[in-house]
Parts: sequence; C-alpha cells; structure tokens
Amino acid sequence: MKTDDSAGDKPKRERVLHGLGVSPGVAIGPAFVSDDHEIAVPDYRVPADGIEAERERFAAAVAASLKQLRKLKGKAAALPASASEEVGYLLDAHIAMLTNSRLVRGVVRRISEEHVNAERAVQMEIGEIGDSFDAMGDAYLAARGEDIRVVGARLIRNLTKTPYAALQHVAEGSVILAEELTPADTALIDPHRIAGFAAVLGGREGHTAIMARALELPAVLGVAGLLTQIDPGDTVIIDGAEGAVVINPRRETIARYEAQQQTLEREERQLARLRRLPAVTRDGIEITLEANLELPRELDQAMAAGAQGLGLVRTEFLYMNREDLPDEDEQFEAYRGLVRGMAGRPVTIRTLDVGGDKLAAPLTEAGGGESANPALGLRAIRLSLRDRSLFDAQLGAILRASAEGPVRILLPMVCSVAEIRKAREALGQVARRLKRRGVKISDPPPPLGVMIEIPGAALAADALAAESDFFAIGTNDLIQYTLAIDRTDEQVADLYNPLHPAVLRLIQFAVEAALRARIGVSLCGEMAGDPRYTGLLLGLGIRDLSMAPGKIGRVKQRVRTLDLVAAGRRAHAIMDQLDDARIAGLLDDFNALA
Ligand code: PEP
Ligand code: MG
Repeated sequence: MKTDDSAGDKPKRERVLHGLGVSPGVAIGPAFVSDDHEIAVPDYRVPADGIEAERERFAAAVAASLKQLRKLKGKAAALPASASEEVGYLLDAHIAMLTNSRLVRGVVRRISEEHVNAERAVQMEIGEIGDSFDAMGDAYLAARGEDIRVVGARLIRNLTKTPYAALQHVAEGSVILAEELTPADTALIDPHRIAGFAAVLGGREGHTAIMARALELPAVLGVAGLLTQIDPGDTVIIDGAEGAVVINPRRETIARYEAQQQTLEREERQLARLRRLPAVTRDGIEITLEANLELPRELDQAMAAGAQGLGLVRTEFLYMNREDLPDEDEQFEAYRGLVRGMAGRPVTIRTLDVGGDKLAAPLTEAGGGESANPALGLRAIRLSLRDRSLFDAQLGAILRASAEGPVRILLPMVCSVAEIRKAREALGQVARRLKRRGVKISDPPPPLGVMIEIPGAALAADALAAESDFFAIGTNDLIQYTLAIDRTDEQVADLYNPLHPAVLRLIQFAVEAALRARIGVSLCGEMAGDPRYTGLLLGLGIRDLSMAPGKIGRVKQRVRTLDLVAAGRRAHAIMDQLDDARIAGLLDDFNALA
C-alpha cells in the first residue's frame, strides 16, 4: 500500500502515529516494510480432478483477503479525517480488485483452462495486468499497477499461509513495519539484530505482544495508517511505552529519543543490582518471582534476572514455524535443557495451549483453526484430551525431563473436574508405560496443576482445587473471557480492563479456594509483570508471580517497598468497590504512597 509521494529530494516531513505501546523501550532505525514480495510462489500443474478444489482454495483466499481489507478499513476510520479518507479510498480500490474483477475472473480461468495452481495463476494474472498499466506511461495508472501487485501479494500470502520468513534476513538495526505479525512471525525475530517493530493490527495482550515483551523488543501495535506514505529505509522511531511511531523524525526528535534510550539503559543497570537481593516485603514476607518462558533462548535472561523458577513454560514454541509435529524425544531434549538450565529451580511446563491466536501450522486443522470461534473451540486441554497421541508424547517427554530436576505440569484452559481427572489418568498411564520400559522419571510424579483462566473455572475453583496440586491464574484469558474482549483486537483494547470488579472477584475467589485447599497458587498473566498491580495482587493473598524475565526487576523493586498488612487493607477496600474508576483511583493512590 504505497501512495505516490512526489516529494523528490525534499526532506520528508516528520509524522507521528499512535497505537498501543505493547513492549516498552525505544527503537530507532531504518524501516523494513514487510510487503510480501519475497514469498516464493509454488508452481505446479493441477490434475483435472483437482480443479474444483483449487478453485475453492482460491475463493477462500479471496474471502480471507476481503475480510482483512475490511478490517483494515474499519481501523482507518480512527485516523484523522483527511488520512482516513485517503486510506479508505485506497482500501476500497483493493476491495474492488477482488470483487468480480478481471483479476479474479482471470485467475479462475487460468486454473480451469490452463490447470495452473492458484498461486501461480495469481502471479501470472497480476504480471499481465500490472504490465499493461505500466505500458500506458501514465503516473496515475502506474500507481494502480502497484496497487494490483500489492493485492496479488496479499492473495498469495493467504494461499500459501506463509509466515513472514523473510524477517530472519532483515538488515541489522532495522525497524520492522507490517500489517500484522503473528506470534510465529515474531518468534523468528532476532532481538540482537532487529531494533523493534510496529504493525497495523494486534492487541495489547495477544501473543504477538507477549512475544515482543519476552524478546524485549520495543513494539507498537494497532497503528492505523502505518504502511501509507512510508518507503523502505525511512528512519523510524518506535516508542513502545507511549505507543508512538515517528516516521522521518526531525534531528531534535531523534536526539530526544536517544536521550530517553540512555535513561532507560541507566534504569536497567540500577534494576540489575537488585538481582541478588531477595523479593521480600518491608514486613519480611518472601514473595516468589518466577519467569514465563516463550522461547528456550530466554533461559539466560530468566537466570540473569534472578528468577526463582519458571512459573510458565509456553510449549507452543515447539510447534511453531514447521510442518510436522515434534515427537517425544525432541520435546524431551527441549524440556531437559530447561530443567538443567534452571539448576534445581522448579520448571512449570504447560501442556500444549494451541488455539485462539496461538495456532500452530501442523495443528491448524486439528486445533479448530477453521472454527467460527477459535477462542472457544477445540483448543488447549480439549485438544490434548481428544488427541491422546499428541498428549501422551508431551506427557512422556515432561515425565522424562522430571528425572533431571523439579518439574510441575500445568494444564491450560481447564474448566471442569472431569478434564483434570482424565489428564491425571493419562499421566498415570504414560508414567507406567515409561517405568515398564525402565525409563527414569521423578518419584513421586510431578505435581499436576491447572490454569485458572476461564471464568467458569474461577467460579468452580473450590471443586477444581480438590483435584489439583496447584493453580496458576491466567489473567490474560480470564479478562478476555470475563469481559468478552478479544485480547488480540486493537479495536477493543481500551475496554480490556484488569481492574474490572468482575475480574478481581474471580481472582479473589480462586485464590481463596486455593488457600482453603492448601494448594499453591501463582499468577502468570501479564498483570503479574506490571508493578502497578503488585500491591493489589499480594493484598489478595498471592505470594507467587510469574512474568517475562525483563519484568522481574521492576516488580521486585515494588515488592521491596510494600507493607503486606497495608496492601491487604487496601485490597480489602478495593474489593468493596463497584466502580472500575474508583478501583483504579484507590490503587493509584496506594501506589503513590510508595
Ligand atoms: C493467560 O491466559 O493469562 C496465560 C498466562 O496464558 P496465555 O497468555 O499463554 O494464554
Ligand atoms: Mg491463557
């Protein structure tokens, strides 16, 4: 989506765009604009009996492209009037190119008559139409030729379902700008080579945002108009705390942000000094601070941050960016690496939580990828219990790793006692099978805990506590499902409120159920890593918080300023409130006393 910029050699005007600051820090660098031109286009003949299916595959890609374009158009409405009109006009043109157009008819004809595969048919048709525009020697028509190539690239991406694999080869120091980055795309980014990223789509608590925080990459999502009037190589600043993207910044702006980078580095050095100090409150209560792990490469960060364990290992990384499934041995190697790396500190391995925004390619079909409501579909523990070979391989690998050090097993998206019983039964069967083969596993077997992240699970926490060895409260999904706010959708990000009384009551209910049943309870949603909430969560009785390694320093700093008796009193006062604004006010006043 490029507009004709006839600025010539004039210095380009500074523009500031706003979105959601999802991962703090400042990045300054040349823009890498992730268009899809690099995607390899498969080229093969379709047999006569496959023509109908190929046409349907193409129709599905057109439908997916139209859906994306309409979503982008909805976003563009948030831009200032003049920009909104311009972007809207451009997107309308793209929509028209996919609606009974020469392009669509031409591709269908090539599939039907020439038996070429859909991707190649799109490429051929786009080439022909684009060339005919170029040949007219008119700047306006040449720009339309560029538009049609952009539409073609979108179609090809939807046909091939290609991740932005090119991200691995982006020039050092670049800032990536994209329409959308999936969690799998983000996992491919090397934070030592890439300065930061921004995208048009994406919410604050989606997994792309979580991955950015894990990689400590400054990132802004939900930025309307990001890809208009930008050329590759333009200087870009990402302000991941404020949610600002500055395109072609003036010299003074760069200087201001460079100074901010230095301040942040100084703060990080100060926080690093806390590493060896205990996370203990002013009145002497020890708090456990653990790390969430998205990718194995964060292990060093977790150790460097002084994490007392891994409170949540998201095992989806093993299933990302590949066509096949990892077997038991491969998983065992990965888990064993974590257990050994943590040198005796507990490692909480969550079984596969695929689904929602966490689709892994080899599981897309099994994982309800095509479901109308993937967030409510066959995902996480439901999928594991349905596909026992998948689950058993994972349990086998975890059990084998448990011989190397303390391991806990965590089940995602549990909502009923029956699920825990079935999972425990499966665990027992796999343990017996391993023992029969003489394979070493821990004795007793690892504790089996559940995520409390579905409102129904929180409300039934007393029943679940009777069957579980520990709880891990997942506020990211708990908030999403309680408030019916899609955590990945930037359009409703302002409504995603951790301090909503319904959310706090569910947390409180789950914590009290765990305390009554004398089982451990931790909180591993993103709330755990935000020092604004630390006083409230400790006041509610939580003593174990698990977060991205980069967050541990700031949370520890907050813990060390807190008096638990005062925190408990303030939490009590907050829980008496019915109004979110009043809750936020009471919490902010309490934090200001520190
Ligand atoms: C949660 O839902 O809070 C959680 C920790 O799990 P995830 O973010 O992986 O869904
Ligand atoms: Mg979750």
